[in-house]
Amino acid sequence: MSSVSVSRLSKSYNSIKALDNVSFDVSKGELFGIIGPDGAGKTTLFRLLTTLILPDCGSAVIEGLDVVNDYASVRRIIGYMPGRFSLYQDLTVEENLNFFATVFNTTVKENYHLIEDIYKHIEPFRTRRAGKLSGGMKQKLALSCALIHKPKVLFLDEPTTGVDPVSRKEFWEMLLKLKSQGITIIVSTPYMDEARLCDRIALMQNGKFLRIDSPDNITASYPYRLWAVTANNMHGLLNDLRACQYVKSSFSFGASCHVTIDESASAAMLDAYLSTRGYDDIGIKEIQPTVEDCFMLMLKEDAQ
Ligand code: ADP
Repeated sequence: MSSVSVSRLSKSYNSIKALDNVSFDVSKGELFGIIGPDGAGKTTLFRLLTTLILPDCGSAVIEGLDVVNDYASVRRIIGYMPGRFSLYQDLTVEENLNFFATVFNTTVKENYHLIEDIYKHIEPFRTRRAGKLSGGMKQKLALSCALIHKPKVLFLDEPTTGVDPVSRKEFWEMLLKLKSQGITIIVSTPYMDEARLCDRIALMQNGKFLRIDSPDNITASYPYRLWAVTANNMHGLLNDLRACQYVKSSFSFGASCHVTIDESASAAMLDAYLSTRGYDDIGIKEIQPTVEDCFMLMLKEDAQ
């Protein structure tokens, strides 16, 4: 049996179709990632699955419970860490945790073992108000609060956005540990390095899933040869590459531009083209596509 089963789920806000006929299944203990730009519909999907809003049509079942008809039971078996404002800023660390435990009719003591690995990082600050914690500490407290009633399914909406790289890495180590304990996790993230850590990822745009697959399958199915291009003057490079008649796509990726070219063209031709445009120190290296490259391609094809 799937842990989460979503069928043709849709939700509109007036004329905006935030979620458009989305279907997918998540297995028990799976770490399922949702990647998409702002406005893609991720938060709407989370709010539907956590019973905070009602769908216009379609259904979603969590551990055998329907999110509309069995909403009260669903709430008891899920943990939700919304993107923002999940903590009471004026309560201390300890008070927040006790509050969430009490709401779910349990105690921190009873389920301490579940959160120990995470909570021990913030326990020294247990009398500090949540509003005074750093981003990384807030996120650990929010995760502890979402876990304190021993949920079977955890929903995390961009839990690491705006958090420093070390805390992001620690946070994902915790998620992998929770997954190994059999908790199903659905997490959205804008960070492609995090997407790689998921069992499967859904690429989302305009309320739809463009594709659901493992990160390896997604990168393996990239249909073109991909080149990383650098030059002395990176400033104008992207525009000049896009102006080239045999460049199919070009995106800026950190220190280089990732480029695909027509099959009839070659790296040497690209090099010659850039030379005529006055570039020096041209570097053109074939590279393996990342999840982000695949995502950029799918977004582009979807928009056409
Ligand atoms: P994401 O989480 O991927 O940024 P959202 O689910 O927040 O996406 O938003 C999807 C679309 O729905 C966006 O166009 C957003 O502006 C719109 N939207 C979200 N919530 C509301 C709301 N309460 N009222 C009107 N429009 C909304």
